[in-house]
Amino acid sequence: MHDSPMNAKALEFNAEETLRRAGLQKTAQRLAVLDLLARTAEPLTAADIFQRLPEEQRVNRVTVYRILSSYTRKGIIREFESKKGIHHYEWAQPLVPPHPHFNCRTCGTMICMTAFLSPCPWEQVVNRPDFIIENISISGLCGLCRQQNE
Ligand SMILES: [Zn+2]
Ligand SMILES: [Zn+2]
Repeated sequence: MHDSPMNAKALEFNAEETLRRAGLQKTAQRLAVLDLLARTAEPLTAADIFQRLPEEQRVNRVTVYRILSSYTRKGIIREFESKKGIHHYEWAQPLVPPHPHFNCRTCGTMICMTAFLSPCPWEQVVNRPDFIIENISISGLCGLCRQQNE
């Protein structure tokens, strides 16, 4: 049987090893943020992360932003904006290449479209091989918002 990307994610993740390889000092907060991102299937906002951190690892928002920006710089996580300009973050799992995200224009729900995981030459899709693609976004209405709209 073939492992789904999510299974591979769960199997291969080691927060301490990831920090060590990135040359980042190990702190309880850094580990907690990374652990949370690696365990969550959908991208999270800084506010989501802040709320979901375990009580004992809860730090101020500034620290959360600082951790997220160092992770983005090191390529450990990917950052992208929603239609409404809200920043989302996801673990840049090596086996999961960049993929499109569905973004609900009403509630902001962000969903990974991992069906597009087979290595897709997005630069060729855009027809600009010299470009670097950082975000592929598809927007619309989620099921819940669609019901409320009808
Ligand atoms: Zn919605
Ligand atoms: Zn994603």
